[in-house]
Amino acid sequence: MQDCIFCKIVNREIPAKVVYEDEKVLVFHDINPVAPIHLLLIPKQHIPHLLAADEVDEALLGHLQLVAGRVAKDLGLEEKGFRLVTNNLKDAGQVVFHLHYHLLAGRPFGWPPG
Ligand code: IMP
Repeated sequence: MQDCIFCKIVNREIPAKVVYEDEKVLVFHDINPVAPIHLLLIPKQHIPHLLAADEVDEALLGHLQLVAGRVAKDLGLEEKGFRLVTNNLKDAGQVVFHLHYHLLAGRPFGWPPG
């Protein structure tokens, strides 16, 4: 999608610190980290948010979560754990309208979230 910043990262039109890539997903460092480890996992395909996903995206969404687990393992988070968050639309504070999961780790997180 033309004006989508994450599509531009997928297309290498703007730089990102990529930590994992395959044919369906990209994982890169958040530009404004809120935790010692703050990665973003995105489908390469432009899906604005989960409400725009469909049955045909089922395998892709499952794959994204498996990649999240694999990346977390590679980062050595098996013991301490991590948080995986996706903000959908206004009340959740979504700013970039290309579906993404925040993988957060490296400090304890409170609950409920703010
Ligand atoms: P949202 O609030 O869930 O939509 O989060 C969007 C995230 O994208 C924020 O954590 C931003 O810091 C991050 N972000 C925005 N632009 C860039 C970029 O160009 N590179 C990496 N992360 C970005």
